[in-house]
Order: sequence, then structure tokens, then C-alpha cells
Amino acid sequence: MLSKIIYCGCVNEKFLNQSVEINGWIRKIRKMGGITFLDIADRYGIVQVILKKDCSFDLTRESVVNIKGKVVLRKNPNKNLPTGKIEIIATDISLLSKAQATPFVIEDDFVAFEDVLLKHRYLDLRRYTVQKKIIFRSNFIHALNNYLIEKDFVHIETPILAKPTPEGARDYLIPTRNGRNMFYALPQSPQIFKQLLMVAGFLKYFQIAKCFRDEDLRADRQPEFTQLDIEMSFIDENKIMSIIEDLLKTAIKKTMGMTLKTPFARMKYEQAMNCYGSDKPDLRYDLQLIDLSSFFQKTKADIFKKILAKKQVIKGFFIKNIVITNKDFIQIKKYGIDKGLTSFYFTFKDKKCLFNSLNKNLEREILENICQKFDFKNGSLIISCGPTKEVNETLGACRIKTNDLYKIGDDNNLCFVWIIDWPLFEYNKQEKIFVAAHHPFTSPTRESLSTFTTDKINAKARAYDLVLNGYEIGGGSIRITDPNIQQKMFEAINLTQKEIQTKFGYLLEAFKYGVPPHGGIALGLDRLIMLLTKSKSIKEIIAFPKNSHGMDLMLNSPSQVDPKDLNDLFVKIK
Ligand code: ASP
Repeated sequence: MLSKIIYCGCVNEKFLNQSVEINGWIRKIRKMGGITFLDIADRYGIVQVILKKDCSFDLTRESVVNIKGKVVLRKNPNKNLPTGKIEIIATDISLLSKAQATPFVIEDDFVAFEDVLLKHRYLDLRRYTVQKKIIFRSNFIHALNNYLIEKDFVHIETPILAKPTPEGARDYLIPTRNGRNMFYALPQSPQIFKQLLMVAGFLKYFQIAKCFRDEDLRADRQPEFTQLDIEMSFIDENKIMSIIEDLLKTAIKKTMGMTLKTPFARMKYEQAMNCYGSDKPDLRYDLQLIDLSSFFQKTKADIFKKILAKKQVIKGFFIKNIVITNKDFIQIKKYGIDKGLTSFYFTFKDKKCLFNSLNKNLEREILENICQKFDFKNGSLIISCGPTKEVNETLGACRIKTNDLYKIGDDNNLCFVWIIDWPLFEYNKQEKIFVAAHHPFTSPTRESLSTFTTDKINAKARAYDLVLNGYEIGGGSIRITDPNIQQKMFEAINLTQKEIQTKFGYLLEAFKYGVPPHGGIALGLDRLIMLLTKSKSIKEIIAFPKNSHGMDLMLNSPSQVDPKDLNDLFVKIK
């Protein structure tokens, strides 16, 4: 009788007493008496196979085998395995590929150095915990695609060999044989192409787009990453935000079974900075920053007197019911020290001050008045003082560290928030120039349209960022479509006429042939999937990631090239 070929993880009681055929990797081998027990694994799971006879070849872990046999009930079922009620008594086993000893054991909880795992990423990817995340990624992206196609968006691929795109990072440049000092740039995003697709009349565009930015790497950054890139014509901010909310709600329901509450919260940039010390506030926990300056008006403590005399601020946040320790405080305040600011902490019981880290004669009444006013009973107060921006940033960082240490927020929560009302420009202290806070295609608000070139500090943008649990997972804007305004915007960020023409002349020209009002957004899929799968780094949800130095350890790339190839490209190494 012909046996059915079944995936290992799919063999179950339905096949009882039937002949089956499986293919898979030998994950474990145990010998007992004359019998060999094998765990045979594939993407769907593991099934136990019993060999009663000697095998004609050497059995090694991770070898690929084909097995024919009969499905029987197990005497001792394994409740931890979906296939645990049955096993296969092998009638035939053949070796498809012999494996030598692997550099680490292919088991979910086997701990190995990251370098070893990355060098043999294909083996790391064989582990279920790792595979599960990559499969989630595939399902999630499928759900996004489905939603957008159903809503009549058109998926359009845009070039990878392109021109520099001004997203604020350094470009990866690609030399070419076509000419001396001629370089393509890898796109930091498909920004200009998608705007041109609006000029072309596509109305609704999307792309699962690869983007490349040469930046310092972090746990949530890789040199190349994937965006869900979207652009639409004849829309406004509200329409874009509500489409994204519905898109995420649908995809998360489909892939995680979780129902998101929409619309997401919205918060002005200024409020985010003032109350959470960050433009990407983690709202899974409160710990709001409060301006306490007015309580210190009559203090004799020098440090605060000086601050108030300089018209700087004293701000803090209260950690309810947690008495922090000095050891923890050293970790919490570390961020402030990096910014050159000192922070202090005070602990309270029944609104009475128990501990004061300032160790000076800071009036107890001041602290107790604060508790009275805000009804802080038991817990700790962290305070920092100095210029507003630095204090906000310091306390924002302390807030995050406090949550890391005391787990105040619920890890299972997904707290989305839109940050709106952004400044149009950012001041670059080193170069002493204003740069676009988002990118230079972002429209000023109606109120800033006539003043944005003269009052850069107060100019506001029609931009929005989407934040999830303290991470920026996307951002976009309504674009400038008037060539004159676009020209003024380029000038405002100090581009010369020559630079404007060589870098963006084609865009300005396109805007002269009929351009619809349009806007869009890009979601950083790696970061979003990292958060949805509760991963610690985006490396975990990228099939072949680079290490924290931008190296692909498996390919050993970047690597040196043949001098002849460099010569063909007109490149000389200094
Ligand atoms: N191109 C922008 C980015 O990559 C997104 C957008 O404005 O649509 O951040």
C-alpha cells in the first residue's frame, strides 16, 4: 500500500494504524536496549519514531532522513508535544543528507554566543522560537497586504539604485562603471518616488519597501530595514491616521487575535515633551513629569535657588508605592549625568518624607507640600533641575529606566499614540543651521505657511508620528505641492539654488504639470514586529540580520574587493 507523505508536526491520531512517510531532521537520538527513539523535526513540529532494527548508516543529529512506518498509539503519551499521543514504528529509513556536529545544539533554550548564532543563522533559524517569529512576520505582512489590496491600494516597487533621499541619515553610495565620480545612492526611503506616483495619478500607493540608512546601530536599528510605505491623494491627516488605525487593528486581530481600541490616543509634541520627556512616550505607565518650580520659591537650598534665579525649572515624577533604593537610583540617574544634570530622590510614607538624597537642609515642608498638593502618599519622588529641554529629556530617560527596574507598565499592553503638531524644523547645534524635522517635503501648517521662512523656531508641520510602547513605529505628513513653497522650504534649510536644481529639480518640474494634494506615512515593520513578538532586538525578527557593527557574519560582509574591480569603478582606496 502507498504511504501518505505527511509533515512531521502534522502526524496525529487521525493516521492511527496507517502507513505514513515523513521527511525531516533528526533532532534527538536515544537508544534503549535494542530500540532507537528518534525525534524527527520539521517546520510543523516533532514526531517520535521508533527504530527496532539496526540502521544501515550512522545516525547523527540534524541529518535529513526519509522514514516510512506505521502510526501507533504511544504507551506513555507526551503532553508537551502536539504529536505526543502517537509515534511511528519505522519500517524503512533512508539518509537524504548526513549532518556533521552542529556548532550549537538546535534546541529552543540552548544558549550560545550571538556571533556563533549569526555566523550560522540558517541553523539558528531552524529553532522553533526563532522560526515562529519569522513566520509571524510573514503572516503579519500578508495581513497588511491583504487589507491594502482590498482597499484598492496599488503595490508599486520603486528603484533601489537611486539618488540621495533626504531622510536625515547618511546615504549608502554605490559606484558604477558608467563614469568617474558617478554614484547611485541606496534609498533611505521611497519618499520622492511615491510623491511622483501621486503626480502620475495612482491615488493610493503602497509598498513593502527596503530602506537603507547609514546610521549608528542600536537594538532597534539595522542598516537596511523594511517599511510599509503608503501615499494617498486628496486626503488629510485624519483620513491617513484612521486608515492606519484600521489597518493595524485588522492585521493584529487576524494574526494575534487581539482587538485594539481605536481611535488611538493623540498627543501634541509639546505635551509629550513636557509630560513624558520624550517625543515617543511609553504610555503603558503614567509617571508624568510635573513642574515643581513654584514649590521651591522660598527654599534656602542653594542648588534650587540658583536654578530659579536663572529662570530654569525643577521638575519631577512620583513613583507610587515603590520605595526606591540608592543602588537603583544610581542606575536611574545615570542618563541625567550624561546630560550634565543632577537628579535627586526622596521617599515618602503617609506623605511624610523618609529619605532625602540631597543630604542638605532641604526644607521638609516643601517636599511634604508637594505630596499634599498631588496626593502622593507612599512612594518615591525623582527630581531634576536645569534648562527645560535637558530636564525633560533627563526625566524622560529616568522614567524609562524606572519602569525597566520596577515593571510598572503592563508588558502585554499595546499602547499606541499619535504624536501631532510637530515643529517644522530642528536646530542643528553643530552645523548651526535649521534642518527639516521630518523631511523637506512636509507641508507647514496653514498657520505657518506665511511665516515659516522667517520664524523657523515656531513653524509647525502637518506631520504625525505613530508611537507604540515608547518606540516610534511610523511617521508621515501632508506634503508640500506648491513648487514655490517647496522652493522656499529648500532655501530655508540652506540649500543653494544649484543644490536644489541638481538634487530636486525633477520634483519641482513634476509639480508644474498638475499635482494632487497628497500625503502619506511609513511604518517601520521591523520595529513593529519586534514589539508585537516581544523581541528584544530587531535582529530577532529579520531572517538574516547584521550584527551591531553592521557586519553580516555569515557572509563576512562588508569585505574587501579585488583591486581590479575597484579600478573598473574608478575607486581608489586612501
Ligand atoms: N519617508 C518618510 C520616512 O521614511 C515617511 C513619510 O513621510 O511618508 O520616515
